Amino acid sequence: MTTSLDIERLLSKRVQEIESSGIRRAWALAQTCKDPINLSIGQPDFVVPDSLKQATIDAILDDKNGYTQTAGDAGLLQSVHTRLHQQFGWDFSDTSHHGSMITSGTAGALTLACLAVLGPGDELIIPDPYFVIYPTLARIADAKAVLCDTYPDFRMTAERIERCITEKTKAVLLNSPANPTGVVLTSEEVAKIATLCRDRGILLITDEIYDEFVYPPTAFASPAETNDDVLVIRGYSKTYGCTGWRMGYAAGPKPIIDSMIKLQQQTFVCAPAPMQHGMIGAYDIDLTEQIARFQKRRDMVVELLGDVTELAIPEGAFYAFLKVPDHLKMTGMDFVAKAIESNVLTIQGGVFSARDTHFRISYAVDDAKLTQGLSTLRSLLS
Ligand code: PMP
Repeated sequence: MTTSLDIERLLSKRVQEIESSGIRRAWALAQTCKDPINLSIGQPDFVVPDSLKQATIDAILDDKNGYTQTAGDAGLLQSVHTRLHQQFGWDFSDTSHHGSMITSGTAGALTLACLAVLGPGDELIIPDPYFVIYPTLARIADAKAVLCDTYPDFRMTAERIERCITEKTKAVLLNSPANPTGVVLTSEEVAKIATLCRDRGILLITDEIYDEFVYPPTAFASPAETNDDVLVIRGYSKTYGCTGWRMGYAAGPKPIIDSMIKLQQQTFVCAPAPMQHGMIGAYDIDLTEQIARFQKRRDMVVELLGDVTELAIPEGAFYAFLKVPDHLKMTGMDFVAKAIESNVLTIQGGVFSARDTHFRISYAVDDAKLTQGLSTLRSLLS
């Protein structure tokens, strides 16, 4: 396709600097597979609960298809408030310390948070390995992402964060349970980070999209339990298998939420209205079965791969981040290419990190496929 536009000149430096070649490369290789065992997918393999589907359909049929308030539908906000009051004791009256808003996915909330807080010269500390969009979030706000190296155990501890702090640090982005590692921080670790950020006047943004997927299910800890100034960002995508609905929320210090609402008003406008109405009953849904299934699959990963590679035991989400054993003398990308030859799709660590020494698997696939995929990986890693 030819164009008369000088694309190089037109495209912003911001977008030109976004790194997406790694994902494209793995994707291109994957096209060579017929009916592969796909361990690369970042979404649950269960369908949206019927009650949420029905509530969304009802909302559409009841003509609830117009804009909502920018901050979100009052009924859905109320369910978020009840949840956060139970968990952190937070209140959301007009005069209280905290504000909240419904966003277009967790990604929408993260984007607004970064645009509200960061600007040229500012630094955002993110974990390495990181969820792919984190460096881009800093970039689109013309700020710099500072990588906090968490190898080999993938724990983003207060000590590791402290080494990254400079006078330019505005915020720390925490993600526990983590993508791509599945690592979950303990309540002590999380409390220390909350204290560090409070003492240094840094905003702690906590991406808690996997909060419900923790094994055992009681082990999730949020820094908001000990620091009222944390910006909590959560989503419905993974918890209820509705990644395409684009639903999330943010809660935290009111002036920060108000700034994010200001930005949402002039960008996303509001989260999708029928889905907001449909989600009001989400927190009444019992996820015991889904959690137990993921925990069982996590156990399968540890059992089948734990002794053939270095593995930080994943305690949450549905990922494991495995080291390519030294004896193979391969990069993450080399190993991913080799696994594709055996019809198994994974993602090279270089997509999530400054290093390419590992690879990510997702165990959100059915047990039979998972067993097959893990057995293949086991023989490739041995
Ligand atoms: N944060 C993390 C850690 C994620 O893994 C994802 C999705 N893969 C997101 C945010 C974005 O999720 P959403 O669909 O809610 O935008």
